[in-house]
Order: sequence, then C-alpha cells, then structure tokens
Amino acid sequence: MADALSTTDVDAWVRAFAALVDEQAEHLNALDAAVGDADHGSNMRRGLTAAAAALDAAAPQAPGALLSKVGMTLVSTVGGASGPLFGTLFLRMGSSLGDAAAADRSALAAALRAGLEGVVARGKAEAGDKTMYDALAPAVQALEQAGEQGPPDLPVALRAAAAAAQAGRDATEAMLARKGRASYLGERSIGHVDPGAASTALLLQALADTAAGSPAP
Ligand code: ADP
Ligand code: MG
Repeated sequence: MADALSTTDVDAWVRAFAALVDEQAEHLNALDAAVGDADHGSNMRRGLTAAAAALDAAAPQAPGALLSKVGMTLVSTVGGASGPLFGTLFLRMGSSLGDAAAADRSALAAALRAGLEGVVARGKAEAGDKTMYDALAPAVQALEQAGEQGPPDLPVALRAAAAAAQAGRDATEAMLARKGRASYLGERSIGHVDPGAASTALLLQALADTAAGSPAP
C-alpha cells in the first residue's frame, strides 16, 4: 500500500461509500423513521448514485477536484438537511486537497478537518447534539493523533479513524437530539442511533477499506 491515496484511490473511496449506502439504504431509512422522516438512506443513495454517474461522465484528474465534483453533485441532487451538509463536507475536502496529485495521512486529516468545519459552519452542530458531527469529529481526531507518534501506516491510521467514527455513531444512541428534525422529538429522540452519524461511519469505513485494499503502485 502506498502511503498516499491517488485519484484512482479516491474514486474507489467514493464508489465504495456509494456501495455501502446502497446496501444499507433501508437500514438508514429505518434509523431516520425513528427520529425523523425515514428518508436519509434514500437521500444519500440518490446523491451518491448521481455522484458516481458524474464521475463516469468525466473523471476528474486530481483527488481534490474529484471530491469537489462529488460535493457539487450532492448539493444539487439531495434534498433535506443531508444534501447541503454532506455536500459541504465533500466540497471543503476538495478545496483542502487543492491540486495535489495524492493525499497522504496529514493531507487527509486536514481535508476531513476542513470538511468538519464546513459542516459546523452550515449546521451549527456541537459535540453531543446527536448528528453526523458526533461520528465525524472523533474520526478526524483519531486521524490527526495517528500522526503524533511518528509516521503511521496509512491503512492503520484510517482503520483507527473508521473505528472512532463507529464508536461515535454508537454513542449517538444515548444522546438527546438538539439539531435537525430529530430535535423536534426532544426526550423521545433518546435511544436511537442518529442516521447521519451512521452514514458518516460508512464514509470512514469505505475510506479504511479502500486504503486496505489498494495495491501498491
Ligand atoms: P432531513 O432531516 O431533512 O430529512 P436527512 O434525513 O437526509 O435530512 O438527514 C438527517 C441527518 O442530517 C441527521 O441524522 C443528522 O445527522 C444530520 N443533521 C441534521 N441537521 C444537522 C445539523 N444542523 N448539523 C449537522 N448535522 C445535521
Ligand atoms: Mg430525513
């Protein structure tokens, strides 16, 4: 495995995310049925199917441009809260990576940090509000920390980030929703995993799986 993701790897990441969301769309809808309007899986599936089609139509030549294209497609095809939020996440990751030909651990950590900041700028969520933030923020932190003890293996660092996102997703079950539709439920939102946190965990899982499976150049 290379210590950085190429454009091809980032393309594989987006498609792996689309495949996981497609597989789990009914589950994501069921999570949203408990705290919202039962459309989160359908929303994400529609957006990611359109994103894959956009990549098929014209393949961007750098990881940053690719992620920006996905972001623009999500913003224009996904209604609801998740379109602008996931769209912004991808757009900010894309601008953070700029024109670089590959993304190593520190570039990916910076890109995900920029994406998280974009999500916060749009949705104003904080830790513990029971949103996608609660899966994304621990993942970003894990990826940043993976660099502090010397140069880590990229797949190992991304696996740690995916595990942190899953733990963050699971922790949303006990939280009271303070943002989005689920906040209308007040106390009744407690006891259900947040759908956006669940799809965010799939985004990080797809990234870890892609890095683990990617052949050395
Ligand atoms: P909608 O709520 O419009 O039906 P979705 O069901 O597709 O949109 O997405 C809901 C998800 O969006 C939630 O589970 C939550 O993770 C995320 N979300 C909603 N509002 C916010 C916000 N203000 N900040 C961050 N994430 C949010
Ligand atoms: Mg919904």
